[in-house]
Amino acid sequence: KRTVVCLGELLIDFVPQTNGQPLAQVDTFRKAAGGAPANVAAAVAKLGGKSRFIAKVGRDAFGDYLQEALYEAGVEPVLVRTDEARTGLAFVSLREDGERDFMFYRDPAADMLLRKEEIKDDLLSDGAIFHFGSVSLIAEPCRTATLHAARRARAFGALISYDPNVRLPLWTNADFARRVIVDQLPLADLVKVSEDEIAFLFHGADIEEGARLMLELGPRCIVATLGAAGCRVFTKKGGIAVPGVPVEPVDTTGAGDSFVGGLLCRLAEAGIGAEQLEEAMAEESFVRDVCSFANATGALTTTKRGAIPALPTRAETLAKLGREV
Ligand code: ATP
Repeated sequence: KRTVVCLGELLIDFVPQTNGQPLAQVDTFRKAAGGAPANVAAAVAKLGGKSRFIAKVGRDAFGDYLQEALYEAGVEPVLVRTDEARTGLAFVSLREDGERDFMFYRDPAADMLLRKEEIKDDLLSDGAIFHFGSVSLIAEPCRTATLHAARRARAFGALISYDPNVRLPLWTNADFARRVIVDQLPLADLVKVSEDEIAFLFHGADIEEGARLMLELGPRCIVATLGAAGCRVFTKKGGIAVPGVPVEPVDTTGAGDSFVGGLLCRLAEAGIGAEQLEEAMAEESFVRDVCSFANATGALTTTKRGAIPALPTRAETLAKLGREV
């Protein structure tokens, strides 16, 4: 098994063509496929891996566009079409340093209406890895659908990867968000988080403390991303830091997702399943190999606008690391 199966939100990001303007002042937006797990699937495909993405979109022009964008990115799209809601939208503004602000149109968006019955077992049974995030946990019926898919994928032997990806403006209540997001940690083998997310989820905890608390809940490995500084990997056997790869960022959209794509792509290639994960991620040379690859894919994604259009190929990633292609 080599396929990375991702499931979750899929929407149109309207990305400004210049940095430094607040949303109200942006003149020109360009549409791009958005949604964190979709970006992960696209990152895996762009790096030469095999990926599938499961979501619901509207039976509308933007749904058609997303289907085409995923297909072009090399992902196998499994998009359920609905008339019940339109494809979701997000308008983005970029600060000078490439950081983003969002305005979402999701009341509801089609991706939030994905139902458990729409996710057939044969979409999950060949997955080496199943990846999901927390945006698809915000509302029903998609929450139940996401958790059903993760449990079925686990029953089929997939490694379960979870990116809590906290997007508080999308939740109605921060305490509820924290509880729902933390409640799913036991389902995951691998969790990718940022320092801010750890502080939010564990009431001000630092990275070490947050990783320790998460490892107690069941995951075998926690990967904390640190922006330009790279990442830190934690297992019950200890922690390993892998420095970032220097670049000049213009738009950080998708850096975290691209990082996850790089990581999952390498794990799938190496045939690391849930049972091998803890040992593999405690071994320094293996962690340096997979995490410097993931750091480079994340870093390169910040050097161009948008998420999917900015994803690097395997050759570009290896070249950035000065490794043989
Ligand atoms: P996102 O903001 O996309 O949700 P995140 O906060 O999880 O993601 P970051 O830590 O910002 O993710 O970035 C993920 C990875 O991308 C980092 O671990 C790093 O490897 C790379 N990266 C991000 N920003 C930079 C940067 N400015 N320079 C070099 N590498 C970067």
